[in-house]
Amino acid sequence: MSNSINNEFEGYKPKSIKILKKFGAKTWSKIRIKTEKISSEGIILPRNQFAPDEFVEIKLKNGYNIGIQLDSTTEIEVLSQEPKMEVKFDPSEIKKNKKLPNIALLGTGGTISSRLDYVTGAVIPAFEPSELFTAVPELADVCNLETDVVFKIFSENMKPKYWLELAKNIAKKVNAGIDGIMIAHGTDTITYSSAALSFLLSDLKVPVVLVGSQRSSDRPSSDAAMNLLNAATIAGNANLAEVVITMLGSSAHDYGFIHRGTRVRKMHSSTRHAFRSIGSSPLGMVREGNIKFFTQDYKKRPKKDVETIAAKNIEEKVGLIYGYPGLSSELIDFYVDKGYKGLVLAGTGLGHFPLDTFDSLKRAVDEGLPVVMTVQTIWGYTGMDVYEPGRKMQSIGVIPGQNMIPEVAFAKLCWILGNYDDPKEIKKLITTNIAGEITAREPMNGYQIFQGVEDQIKPL
Ligand code: GLU
Repeated sequence: MSNSINNEFEGYKPKSIKILKKFGAKTWSKIRIKTEKISSEGIILPRNQFAPDEFVEIKLKNGYNIGIQLDSTTEIEVLSQEPKMEVKFDPSEIKKNKKLPNIALLGTGGTISSRLDYVTGAVIPAFEPSELFTAVPELADVCNLETDVVFKIFSENMKPKYWLELAKNIAKKVNAGIDGIMIAHGTDTITYSSAALSFLLSDLKVPVVLVGSQRSSDRPSSDAAMNLLNAATIAGNANLAEVVITMLGSSAHDYGFIHRGTRVRKMHSSTRHAFRSIGSSPLGMVREGNIKFFTQDYKKRPKKDVETIAAKNIEEKVGLIYGYPGLSSELIDFYVDKGYKGLVLAGTGLGHFPLDTFDSLKRAVDEGLPVVMTVQTIWGYTGMDVYEPGRKMQSIGVIPGQNMIPEVAFAKLCWILGNYDDPKEIKKLITTNIAGEITAREPMNGYQIFQGVEDQIKPL
């Protein structure tokens, strides 16, 4: 976030700056650029703070912006220095279409929040509806949009207290009568946020759709526009009142999945179809404006008006500890010594931690910390009656988390411990399904059940 505005390399990071400097190029230089893969001519545009290093973004003669990877083979020739482009939008020019749903888009940061301005390339504040409509014109056919920047951070910097702030913002908008909510979020921890919001919001009456982007919007391969459009379709039209995530579903990049907020994980660090429902099928899919649900087992918009309520508090002192061979009991003691209020364990296999940690686990339980076991296999259930160590851990007081995904159990414990005091009630809430995080059974064959789903929904 240290990229200063209005300098000669606006938005560019050190490696890119070094290469640009070598050739005497800066923002608004008209250049001819040659790399191993591409040869092109255009004007160097400023970049946004979320854009990756080692790319230059140029505006081509035809008006499109492309990102070009910079490397040791890059050659740049500066043709001229052009004036800075300014394009101003007048938000009042956007007329509300009474037939379309009203959607609020809350920005939190991440790649999706980078400017979607491949048309203008102009330096204008991100997240104005006018800007988004310009960047993704199809959006204006789907909804009336209001936008709000709640945070501007990479999602690895989210904190439980930010989840709470987001939930309070959402409840306010929903109770004011909005038809759907979209949340633009970095993909790294979007599933933590979707899980947390699933618990922090009760009596939800509209869809809350979190959406991200794996590729910056200034790159030709960006998924930002399509994910945003899919999210708007769901938020505006789906008869759904749950927290969900939509991201591209297939390698062909032609549709998005609708994942329940408590049953989804980022399963690949870079591919655009990285998100998968875990231990369940996605709720549905969206393609070219059509929504298809695979199940009827989801909460619908209530017929009578209800008040959506955001939780009052959240507990931030919750630990999430991954089990591994050689894990030292000191680590457990550390959390207790530091005053943590609860622990989620991601155990091996059916929910196991090394024997060496049992005394410290017992101490944690004795000092009043709920300790919840989950499985790091992520598919499947804890099975703590099968082997002796599992039974022993239960006798110590470790609570089997069934098939809660570890980070979902973490978000759930943050919510529970922030809002409840009675140990009995806390234990009951941990083991009770609240928002789809614990299911009675899981499909046996994982991803395979989705082969061929592409054919189930035809574009209009
Ligand atoms: N790591 C950043 C984040 O999660 C950028 C990646 C992304 O937006 O997907 O916010």
